[in-house]
Amino acid sequence: MAFKLTYGTMSDPPQEMHDKFDQALENVKQNLGREYPMIINGENRFAEEKHQAFSPINTNLHLATFQKGTAKDADDAVAAAKAAFPNWKAMNWEERVYLMRKFADRISARIYEISAAVSLEVGKNRMEALGDVAETEDLIRWAADMMEQNNGYRKPLGSDPLVGMSSTNESILKPYGVWVVIVPFNFPASLAGGPVGNALVAGNTVVLKPASDSSWTASLLVECAQEAGIPDGVLNLVTGSGSTLGNALTANEDVAGITFTGSLDVGMGIYRQFANRKYPHPVILELGGKNPTIVSRNADLDLAAEGVMRSAFGLQGQKCSATSRVFVEKPVYDAFVSKLVANTSAIQIGDPTEQENWFGPVINRKAYQDYGNYVAELAAAGTILTGGKQLIEGELAKGFYCAPTVVADVPLGHRLWKEEMFLPIVMVTPVDDLKQAMELANDVDYGLTAGFVGTPDETEWFFDHVEAGTVYSNRPQGTTTGAWPGFQSFGGWKGSGSAGKNGGGYYYLPLYMHEQSRTRVKRA
Ligand code: NDP
Repeated sequence: MAFKLTYGTMSDPPQEMHDKFDQALENVKQNLGREYPMIINGENRFAEEKHQAFSPINTNLHLATFQKGTAKDADDAVAAAKAAFPNWKAMNWEERVYLMRKFADRISARIYEISAAVSLEVGKNRMEALGDVAETEDLIRWAADMMEQNNGYRKPLGSDPLVGMSSTNESILKPYGVWVVIVPFNFPASLAGGPVGNALVAGNTVVLKPASDSSWTASLLVECAQEAGIPDGVLNLVTGSGSTLGNALTANEDVAGITFTGSLDVGMGIYRQFANRKYPHPVILELGGKNPTIVSRNADLDLAAEGVMRSAFGLQGQKCSATSRVFVEKPVYDAFVSKLVANTSAIQIGDPTEQENWFGPVINRKAYQDYGNYVAELAAAGTILTGGKQLIEGELAKGFYCAPTVVADVPLGHRLWKEEMFLPIVMVTPVDDLKQAMELANDVDYGLTAGFVGTPDETEWFFDHVEAGTVYSNRPQGTTTGAWPGFQSFGGWKGSGSAGKNGGGYYYLPLYMHEQSRTRVKRA
């Protein structure tokens, strides 16, 4: 069987992948320093103010120059998307599916180059970066497949029993109009490409705003869309700060719907802002997490320690799905914790573009400083079992490196059991039994992912009681992380998301369309 890259398989890729990545990295590094425009109605748009992007791996490494777009740029992008909407929606859905598959093909053709950029820009290790870009392609293809499998979402309804007349009834899903997609830094490819792919295949036109820390990836993706022949104005790109440009997008009354992926606070602000409009508009929010793993007294502890280590510290703990709380039944607590500490201490830290390093820097100076503040607070409240310091030895001093950290003995009432830190810090505690573990697991405002390690019977009980949208059991590749479109749909409950339907699953694409029921009556 040919190798299929997913987050589940990425720990053991063929050497060819490494070789191609190395080659692409070399090319990308030789061409650093380019200036990227915004793209509005297919045209390059430059702003007066620029954002200079440096790598979190080495803060002297200048990656590229981006535009600091203004509220006027946001409004122009929405106007361009609005003007492009009539033709894009009038196109047969089959043509849109064709174009979206071409878009995915272009991403596939440039996967190594884009992954090298992701790795340099975000500090992901090379396999995480490749995973992010491969997932983008798969999310777009999945959206196209769903459109096709559902025949463009045009389906017959029953004929009502009218005397002397016949009725032909059908349901059709239609696009809303201009859709804004706002993206966080941590999955700069897939969290842009996934919502963009769904919005476009549904027939909406899009304005895309990436995070300020990851505008490079978005710029490369939009190049792929242009190469695929997606018409001007259908996908527009604006770059700049969330508080000015992002806010102007969400305030624009011509925006019909939005997908926001990011923090709970910013997401709730957008949700409230949309609620103040003249009438309701769709808002798809994918927000933070405070994801638990529960370890049963019957667990395979090697598997548990491996899976927790991967989920707590993959991408330096900056995954919305990262394990941040571990509840362990008392009889196996000490044994589990010593295995987790051993695994964590063995993590290879360094420049994540290099093959041997699994763990890179955190995204920026603010995250680096937040880490310092959190570990100081946790050291005062509990015990740091491993990690707990910013890393400043040798080459690491050039970037934002922080040690992966395991913390114990923090009282259960402490605020950091409930607040998302979004950093490489995991908190562990013993519990009396699974019932107590479940109460603690669910006692947060979030409900994104959750993991369990134990027996099959216990697993079914866990699935039935845990409040989260994406759940796993006995997964050494990651107890709470690593969803892949078509294999695991991904989304959150409670404060982790508003849609109630998961991306990369069967029910997500219809969120981008509203239904029209059509009844045609004739005399018999
Ligand atoms: P932020 O909420 O800080 O930012 C997300 C995006 O929103 C960025 O593009 C940001 O722009 C923009 N933004 C900020 N303020 C506004 C505003 N007032 N109006 C409009 N847009 C705005 O999140 P991070 O980028 O730090 O990402 C981390 C968060 O994302 C975590 O909470 C994580 O759990 C969550 N996340 C959720 C996922 C899910 O699927 N549920 C997946 C991945 C991450 P700028 O960068 O310019 O500030």
